[in-house]
Amino acid sequence: MIRAARVARQVLWLAAIGAAASCGDKSPTSSVPTTGSLAIATTGLPAGASPSITVTGPGGFNRSLTADGTLASLSPGNYTIAAAAMVFGGSIYSPAPASQSVAVTAGLTATASIAYTGQPIPATCRLPARFSDLGLGFPRVVNRQKVIGDVRAALVFVDFSDAVATRAPQSVFAILSPTAENYFRAVSFGRMNLIFEPSLVWRRMSRPTNAYGWNALTFALHRTYIQEALDLAVGVDFTQSDVVIIISNPDAGALNNGPAFLASPGFGVTAGGRTFLNAATSGRDLINWGGYWLNHEMGHTMGLPDLYAYSGSGHRFVGGFSLMGLISGHSREFFGWERWLLGWIDDAQVTCAAQGTSETVLSPVERAAGTKLVVMPTGPTSAVVAESRRAEGYDTNGQLTPGVLVYFIDTSIASGAGVLKVLLINDADTNKSTAPLQPGGSLTYAGVTVTFVSQDATGDRVRVVR
Ligand SMILES: [Zn+2]
Repeated sequence: MIRAARVARQVLWLAAIGAAASCGDKSPTSSVPTTGSLAIATTGLPAGASPSITVTGPGGFNRSLTADGTLASLSPGNYTIAAAAMVFGGSIYSPAPASQSVAVTAGLTATASIAYTGQPIPATCRLPARFSDLGLGFPRVVNRQKVIGDVRAALVFVDFSDAVATRAPQSVFAILSPTAENYFRAVSFGRMNLIFEPSLVWRRMSRPTNAYGWNALTFALHRTYIQEALDLAVGVDFTQSDVVIIISNPDAGALNNGPAFLASPGFGVTAGGRTFLNAATSGRDLINWGGYWLNHEMGHTMGLPDLYAYSGSGHRFVGGFSLMGLISGHSREFFGWERWLLGWIDDAQVTCAAQGTSETVLSPVERAAGTKLVVMPTGPTSAVVAESRRAEGYDTNGQLTPGVLVYFIDTSIASGAGVLKVLLINDADTNKSTAPLQPGGSLTYAGVTVTFVSQDATGDRVRVVR
């Protein structure tokens, strides 16, 4: 019976509110609360660091907070509290949760808490590696091939009963050479000297092309294919080779593309008593790509990831920049970052931007001397990077608009998933030949601003604020 009485009282109370509202009477019933409060508390931030919190809610409510506090006089309803990561004292502080929803009730104070965790931003700009096969982090993956000095690639040519070669192996070899050697010599500024060791005879594989599983190629199937080709290469001297390349008859057969083979220790292929953890195999698309196919696949055997997208619009990340993005792109030169990772430019040619405002003159990446990169770390594995691009060298395969190319790297992102993105991010632009900043231009990303101050024949002056 007590319960029934309480319900009855509540009904009367609500009726009293209704009466007050309808006549505007300032009777005691008007003190019944119609709004609530929201208290927001943060933990984990050092003294002096101000969080950046945005609260949105009913009726277009939108309020920013830079400190703990209580928002009063809120209409009841659901409020979203979003907290941004923030940089302070050389560390980046990430909020958890980054976003949360809290119900505010009339007459009550709801609470929301945000816990920040700080991680140091790398002081050296050499963002750390996060993958054991391919990646843009330092150090370069240890199992990938040599990239400095003479690099010897053994070439074995194979054909099939259903795809008997009609061209001379010399003519297929001429697709690769000297295109591929010249590219690496130029882009490495003479530091890598690719030497082909071709065995110019077609060797017949035991099975037809469709028996090698190319339409659903696995590591094991690929390994079996390469090993059979190497076993056929009787009399070939592999003692000086750094990498092995299997060239298939490009005119026919089910080997439609030409992937790289990247093994961990214990899973390589063997030839002449030696083990190789790095190889590449050509397919029919060699005809389409030409010799730069080898530069792309050898980019992988050197440890570089794919910069195009494995899913969705294929060239939305880097467009035609770097042949690790698009082999036939307008600007095939490797990004300055890729070359730094490979040891083709020196640490002294990379400016790691100090906090605050600084200026750097960037020498075009197509030229050997000078400062090639300015790097602005934005997190434990990420940075905004700026480099100068001119329509020179291998950046002349289309209509590149020269200027300061700015990009974002996150070394925790896998090959083919956007480890490097040209800025500003614009998924609709899958070419990006006009992406470089022009003199006077500026862009801001991840809390970093890059301004292209001026340009002359020797380079591009940029001002960065981080
Ligand atoms: Zn690739």
